[in-house]
Amino acid sequence: MIGDERAPAAWSRRHLLQAGLAAAAGIAAPALAADAGAGDLAGLSRQVRGRFLTSADAGYDDARRVWNKAYDRRPLAMARCADVDDVRRCVEFARRHALPVAIRGGGHSYAGWGVADGALQVDLGALDRVTIDPQRRVASVGGGTRIKQLLAASYAQGLITPMGACGEVGVAGLALAGGDTAARGLYGTACDNIIGAQLVTADGEVLELGPGRNDDLFWAIRGGGGNFGVVTRLDLQLHPILPSHNLGFRFGWNDIGAAMRVFGELMRTAPDYVRMGFEVDPAAGAAFGCRVYGSEVLAGDYFAILHKAFPRVESRLSPTRLDPVGEVWDTTNLAVDAAFLEGVDDALAAVLERAALAGRGFGAILMGLSNGKAARIGMTETAYPLRGTGLSSMISAEWQRPEDRERAVSWVAEHGGALRPWATRAYVNYLPPSSPDRIREAYGVNHPRLAAIKAHVDPDNLFRSNQNILPAPAA
Ligand SMILES: Cc1cc2nc3c(=O)[nH]c(=O)nc-3n(C[C@H](O)[C@H](O)[C@H](O)COP(=O)(O)OP(=O)(O)OC[C@H]3O[C@@H](n4cnc5c(N)ncnc54)[C@H](O)[C@@H]3O)c2cc1C
Repeated sequence: MIGDERAPAAWSRRHLLQAGLAAAAGIAAPALAADAGAGDLAGLSRQVRGRFLTSADAGYDDARRVWNKAYDRRPLAMARCADVDDVRRCVEFARRHALPVAIRGGGHSYAGWGVADGALQVDLGALDRVTIDPQRRVASVGGGTRIKQLLAASYAQGLITPMGACGEVGVAGLALAGGDTAARGLYGTACDNIIGAQLVTADGEVLELGPGRNDDLFWAIRGGGGNFGVVTRLDLQLHPILPSHNLGFRFGWNDIGAAMRVFGELMRTAPDYVRMGFEVDPAAGAAFGCRVYGSEVLAGDYFAILHKAFPRVESRLSPTRLDPVGEVWDTTNLAVDAAFLEGVDDALAAVLERAALAGRGFGAILMGLSNGKAARIGMTETAYPLRGTGLSSMISAEWQRPEDRERAVSWVAEHGGALRPWATRAYVNYLPPSSPDRIREAYGVNHPRLAAIKAHVDPDNLFRSNQNILPAPAA
């Protein structure tokens, strides 16, 4: 509960500081000065049905922690919303008091967006209901549902929708930004499977989105992340689970560039039923992995091509386990950067090999193929800009001891920067907190429409704890 009479003064100072930082980063500060006092917050806490915390409350420090420990931020207050009305009340309060809103879903943002200094955090963790309609093949999930909750329910019906590898990640946080997913060659990526949504806008309206229902917003949320409001429900298309088979090759630290060039050749011709990726693990070195969706015969035929491509390289065949929890990665400190690479030429392979060797022991590179259906969808059909065949790539480095932070951050900055000549577009969920120019580049041709929609629905940029799309200036 609220009881800290010093809160308004602390907020005012922090807000001034933050406004300065926001201006430095090119992030628009709200038009009005923030003026939420302790009395106002106490009033909100009485209206909200879910838990409400400020820095004066026990549990505040636990609740503000996010997966990426590098982001140690202090929101003004945190509301764990019990329902859509709680979300609406919080957003209306934030707008009235010109407070930024930080939306928290699964808390797994690499850039720590679920928490922000001086913000009102709208925590959706309790909105995690999953309903499966097996006849229509549709899953409806609350805005804070995690992947493992969605997949546990859909697997039980023999159905799946493209999602990420870690079950702890929030479904909406992933799908609204696009999604780096398996099976996207066959079914499109996560945002391509959004068929409906409920959205609480900056002025507290609760809107239904879908084909023919608020078309501009429906377009914008399929790739534009949390810029347009709080998504309290997502409806996702489901598909049959196909058998799948995996083959992996390990290269260690030898001839990484050569292996990448072969990967670059294979990605050009990979059929829709093939998922493939190349990774450099800080400890084990380089590896190539491939999954084929379909019969054993289909997989055997494709794997024969791979054995020819990588003769004499140690390989391992493995079954796919249908585990909704997937690969869980412990909370850590992580620096990231991203690039969408349209191919791997000799010069790029050399740059990547150099990065891999320089980061041995702490730096990772992940390159996942985006092909098939996800690649063929038109560039402007959704806000998600990563169309055409390419590699959704992330370069990352973690650290545990404070003295290792600088090494990780510098390696990511240097080698992430070295990829820029090959890529302007990038998956926004794999970017570090980025300037408006970088975000403009990342969205490419879709940015002007996104900025115009933002100006219409969130002109004061209430929702700016995200890879921020600035509202377009008035014409
Ligand atoms: C271990 C790990 C594995 C990952 N694996 C993958 C992967 O395989 N594929 C992939 O594509 N990505 C992956 N990611 C990245 C992940 O998709 C993003 O970090 C995503 O933003 C996390 O969403 P979240 O809800 O868990 O995070 P949060 O920190 O809770 O939310 C991040 C931001 O997403 C937006 N958001 C979240 N929910 C809503 C909502 N309901 N309404 C409006 N906006 C919302 C908001 O802007 C919010 O601030 C991974 C991340 C981690 C840490």
